[in-house]
Amino acid sequence: MMRKFAGASLVLFLSTAVGFGQAAAAGASHIALRCGWLFDGRGDALRANVFVMIEGEKIRNIAATAPSGAEVIDLSHHTCLPGLMDTHTHILLQGDITAADYDQQLLKQSPEYRTILATVNARRALEYGFTSIRDLETEGAGYADVDVKRAINNGVIPGPRMQVATRALDVTGAYPLEGYAPNVMVPHGVQIVDGPDNARQAVREQISHGADWIKVYSDRSYRIREDGVLDDIPTFTPEELRAIVDEAHRERRKVASHAMALHGVHNSVEAGVDTIEHGNYIADQDLQTMASRGVFYVPTIFVGEYVAQGRAAEGSPVWVKMIQIHADTFQRALKAGVNIAFGTDAGGFDWRLNPAKEFSSLVKFGMTPAQAIRSATATAAELLEVNDSLGTVEAGKLADIVAVPGDPLSDVSLMEKVDFVMKGGALVKRP
Ligand SMILES: [Zn+2]
Repeated sequence: MMRKFAGASLVLFLSTAVGFGQAAAAGASHIALRCGWLFDGRGDALRANVFVMIEGEKIRNIAATAPSGAEVIDLSHHTCLPGLMDTHTHILLQGDITAADYDQQLLKQSPEYRTILATVNARRALEYGFTSIRDLETEGAGYADVDVKRAINNGVIPGPRMQVATRALDVTGAYPLEGYAPNVMVPHGVQIVDGPDNARQAVREQISHGADWIKVYSDRSYRIREDGVLDDIPTFTPEELRAIVDEAHRERRKVASHAMALHGVHNSVEAGVDTIEHGNYIADQDLQTMASRGVFYVPTIFVGEYVAQGRAAEGSPVWVKMIQIHADTFQRALKAGVNIAFGTDAGGFDWRLNPAKEFSSLVKFGMTPAQAIRSATATAAELLEVNDSLGTVEAGKLADIVAVPGDPLSDVSLMEKVDFVMKGGALVKRP
């Protein structure tokens, strides 16, 4: 099994996830979900009064009546939807509004204790309705995400299907913990690499230990220029970034880039990364490149608003001003036709807050409710490259299905009230 994981790929993510579904769904054959409405994720319209037939771990078909003998679960006052996908989480973090919150976790909690907390966060994610997540680095907890994923896939603990990024990469002097006396050794939230060769080696190491994605931090130290553009200090040189992307792609992994501002985004897009995380400011030309090359934008709006006040109080008012810049970028990205995928940065805020608050943020910034829901289902499935088995409610796909009490297209905040969750045909939660 270890050897299998060492050779892991996105394909393995799928096949192990399927294995988990089979084991968990043993007693769940022939269930009929009686849905008042169905948002199947293929279009914007709701279908009324349908039965979604589940056989084992898969959706058998969608019908007007239920065959006799099937166990019917009554969701006739609910809207059924594809299982939700959060493409930017940190299950090993418990919120880091201020630098002190972050330092505290790395200095005073052992990776083992943090892993125990992560198993609780994984369960929370699933119960909120997120049946798949992409966890974008462990913030100093090593390869613990690989083990949480393994425990979920082996049926040891409940949790979503996971793709993991392990340790992430950044350069010397760019990522906390920073600011300690030079003679004090402190842990860092990333693997520090300098130079293209070291970067390549780190990518190889992380993949050998189970990374499905390579995460890079491409910029830091934000300030607003007089013309309103959000400026940054790029971390990696273009040469280093190209080496990372080349090595990851050569080994059939994709690259997620934390890039909040002008240079970080530009360098990332030019280097060929697959997803831009946060993207508070993106120049029009880079949006065009993203649209034409199919680079995904994961805007993580809610967390920005949530941490802004705390960080302003700490002496960084730029975080408050960034919100308007972010809204403007988001609208330009929508117009440019960039693929926008749902991601929350959960863990950057406390997991006891439902990450589905992001749906309301997406709508506030300009998406329709249907667009926002598709960003967390069909579009997210494309980002994760699992769209042939997940992301929509269709015959033959895996039965990852959630439901909310009412019509989320008229009130998208209902997405925070998921009270039915099924993963791979196995019931997680029902009203
Ligand atoms: Zn993050």
